[in-house]
Amino acid sequence: MNIHPGLQMPMALRRCCWCGEAEKPHQKHKKCASCEYVIYCSKECQKAAWPDHKQACRYMTESTRRFDGVYESEVLPFGFSSSLAYSRALGDWTEAHSWALQTCAQAFVLQLGGTSFIKIPSEYIMCYRLTCRTKPGQSAASRNPAMMFVAQTQGVVKIEDWMQMHPNNVLHWQGTASERDLIARSMAERCGSAFACLLTVVFKSDGITSSNTLHFPVLHTRQRLPLDDAAKDLLGDVIALCYRSIDQGFPLRCLEGSDSTMPLPGHFVRRSGKWVWEPFFEDWDDFSPTSTEYPALCRAVAAFKTKLTPKQLLTALLSF
Ligand SMILES: [Zn+2]
Ligand SMILES: [Zn+2]
Repeated sequence: MNIHPGLQMPMALRRCCWCGEAEKPHQKHKKCASCEYVIYCSKECQKAAWPDHKQACRYMTESTRRFDGVYESEVLPFGFSSSLAYSRALGDWTEAHSWALQTCAQAFVLQLGGTSFIKIPSEYIMCYRLTCRTKPGQSAASRNPAMMFVAQTQGVVKIEDWMQMHPNNVLHWQGTASERDLIARSMAERCGSAFACLLTVVFKSDGITSSNTLHFPVLHTRQRLPLDDAAKDLLGDVIALCYRSIDQGFPLRCLEGSDSTMPLPGHFVRRSGKWVWEPFFEDWDDFSPTSTEYPALCRAVAAFKTKLTPKQLLTALLSF
């Protein structure tokens, strides 16, 4: 399973929502003037994206207005001046961990029985319950994007049940319908026949009403379903590795410019006023599971049920 077909993961955290170009040192992309959430590298990209972005933009602008009036007090204890600022921080965190989050979602769905369980289109959404780790008075430079949240639980819930949990959920689902269609179409193009459906993933932090939503592709598996125990153990180790990387702040990402689909562990560092990801090493062969340099990573690897090395585990994942 090539989890991220054609997906570029730049070292820089922020990239143009249309062409995907990463921000360069000493240069900042411009925000959409209306929703102030999505960013573009140029006026041309903003113009090209508008027909697709229009509906989502209107929804985001409206819900920001709604949230900032009513729910602003919820984000103040975590050091955010507005719901939008909070959403952006959460967006940075999900971007920092995008490989692990997407991989976790895929592996989790497969463990449940894949598309024979969630159906096509998916009858479920995935929900993450998070705890926000930020505090008032922190500077941007002290807020490592990979460390701002901790994932408490993840699980799937039927869309119809989720909508009954909160009146905002119904508005949210309807307001983002056309956005989901567009994303599904572009993912189908990118993934080809492997694409099964879209999985909507909601990230919600304890004590904060507003949530962020992402959409991940669910791909058809080459494995026979239901999975045997060996395959389930393998996915279990993959999920455990992803979870550790998220909570211990060593984001797994693919090295930019390399053809490898093998993610590497790394960390975010400040360079010219921006957060940039740097790998711990450029090849898993350079990693020793007994090294004292990366204790959190070594603990994660030592706990593997399959006793595989990370490289073997991630290579085996590709055959899914
Ligand atoms: Zn662009
Ligand atoms: Zn907008």
